[in-house]
Amino acid sequence: MSENCIFCKIANKEIKIDLVLETEDLVAFKDINAQAPFHILVIPKKHYETLNDIKNPELLGKLFEGVQNVVKKLNIEDGYRTVINTGKKAGQEVFHLHIHILAGRPFTWPPG
Ligand code: AMP
Ligand code: ZN
Repeated sequence: MSENCIFCKIANKEIKIDLVLETEDLVAFKDINAQAPFHILVIPKKHYETLNDIKNPELLGKLFEGVQNVVKKLNIEDGYRTVINTGKKAGQEVFHLHIHILAGRPFTWPPG
């Protein structure tokens, strides 16, 4: 638990969220400022600031397994985008590792 980390508070159930899926290691919930009809965040319960800070391939695998289970549950397996913003330059605002899952509208490439 990192002091004043909003996603640690979510993992600790101190902040109310719209839960999609939970396991021993992760929580998946709806983004409060959805950028698509489906916008889910998958976070590890344990605090890692960025993708660079997690040295645990097993947990990384579990997070992506979480993504697979979320898209199955929401029936969006046929088209979704996953995003991990790493660092301020890439648009990261919450420094607790999270995977965005976006779906339900067309997406352009290259991303903005
Ligand atoms: P990023 O810019 O990659 O750090 O994304 C942070 C995301 O967290 C943004 O899409 C926010 O809308 C989302 N977010 C921040 N606070 C909350 C919250 N309390 N519940 C759900 N989503 C949140
Ligand atoms: Zn945290």
